[in-house]
Amino acid sequence: MNRSFKLITLFGIPVEINYSWFIILGLIIFTLARGYFPVTNPEMPELGRWLMAAVAAVLLFASLLAHEFSHSLVALRNDLPIHGITLFVFGGVAHMEKEPSTPAVEFKMAAAGPAMSFFLAIVFFALTQTFYSLGLPAYILSILNYLFILNLAVGIFNLIPGFPLDGGRLLRAALWYFSKNLKRATRIASFFGKVFAFILIAYGLLNLFVGSLITGIWFIFIGLFLQEAADTSYQQIVMKKALTGVRVENIMTRSVVTVPGNLTLDKLVDEYFFRFRYTSFPVVEDDTLRGLVTLHAVKEVEKNRWPQVTAGEIMIPLSEKLIVGKDLEVIDALSKMAGAGSGRLLVAEDHKLIGILTQRDITRLFEVKSRIDEE
Ligand SMILES: [Zn+2]
Repeated sequence: MNRSFKLITLFGIPVEINYSWFIILGLIIFTLARGYFPVTNPEMPELGRWLMAAVAAVLLFASLLAHEFSHSLVALRNDLPIHGITLFVFGGVAHMEKEPSTPAVEFKMAAAGPAMSFFLAIVFFALTQTFYSLGLPAYILSILNYLFILNLAVGIFNLIPGFPLDGGRLLRAALWYFSKNLKRATRIASFFGKVFAFILIAYGLLNLFVGSLITGIWFIFIGLFLQEAADTSYQQIVMKKALTGVRVENIMTRSVVTVPGNLTLDKLVDEYFFRFRYTSFPVVEDDTLRGLVTLHAVKEVEKNRWPQVTAGEIMIPLSEKLIVGKDLEVIDALSKMAGAGSGRLLVAEDHKLIGILTQRDITRLFEVKSRIDEE
C-alpha cells in the first residue's frame, strides 16, 4: 500500500497519489456512470454519463485535495513541517516530521479539513441553486449537486471520532488536553477508530449478502483502510514516544570491527565474515573511515578472483547516506536507515569512526523501553 507517485507541488508541498487511489477513482466513476447519473439524468446517453462521471470524479479529487491542504497550511502556520501529502480514499495523509506540540495545535489542524469540506459543500450548493435559476443544462446541475452532497459527506465522515480520522484527532486532542497523556489519548482514539472500522466492514458484508455489491465493496474498502490506519498511527506514536530524547551515542556499539582497505577478499571472508558473522564491515585506513564493504558486494566477485581483489576496491565509498552524527536522535536515524535501505549506519566524527548503529540496537531498545512503560 506504500506505492505512490508524485503529481504536483503546491505551496511547496509535494502531492503524491497512492496507487490504491486509482482503484477508488475507477470505483467512483463506475458508481456514478452506472448507478447515480442514470437516475438523475435518464435522458443522457451512456457515453455522456461516463463523461459526467469523469468530470465529477476529478472535481471530487480537487475537493479532497483542498481538504488536505487546509490541514497542511494550518500545520505549516504552527511550525510543523509537512514533507508531502499522499491521497488515499476519503482524504489523504499529510507527512509530518513531528506530531503537533500541543492539544490546541492538533485541534486546529484537525478541524481545518472538515471546515474546508463544509465550505465547499456550501459553495457547490450555492452554485447549483444559481445555475438552476439561470436555466443551465441538467447535466451541469447534477454534477454540482453531486459535489455538494459528497463534500458534505466527506465533512461528516471525517468528523466521526475514530483516530486517525479528523474527528478522532479532535477526540484525541480533547483527551490529551484533559489527561496530559498523549499515548493514552492516542490509544483510546485509535480504539474508537477500530470499532468504527469494524462497523463499516460488517455493514459492507451485510450489503454483499443482500446483493448490494457496489455499496458493500465501498464500505468494506473504507473499513479496511481505516483499520490499518488506526493500527499504524498508534504504533508510530508508541515508537516515537519510546525513542524520543535517545541519541545515537547512547545506544551505538563503540567497539567496531573494521577492515583495512588492502585486505584481499579471500582473507576478508575467512577472517571477518565467517568469524564475526556481520553482513558488512567499515573500511578504515590510517585511522580514517573510507567506506563500507558488504557481503553482497563480495558475492558479486567471482570466487577465483578473491585473492586478487581488495576490500577497498569493492567497498561502498563513504557518503552522507551511510553516516550519522552521534548527537542525532535515534528516531531520525531510523528514518535515515529506511531511506538508505540499510540496517546499519556508521557513526563518524571528522571522518573518524566512533561507532556503529544497527536497526537491531534500536528495536531492542524499543522492546525494553515499551516493557518498562507498560501501564
Ligand atoms: Zn481531514
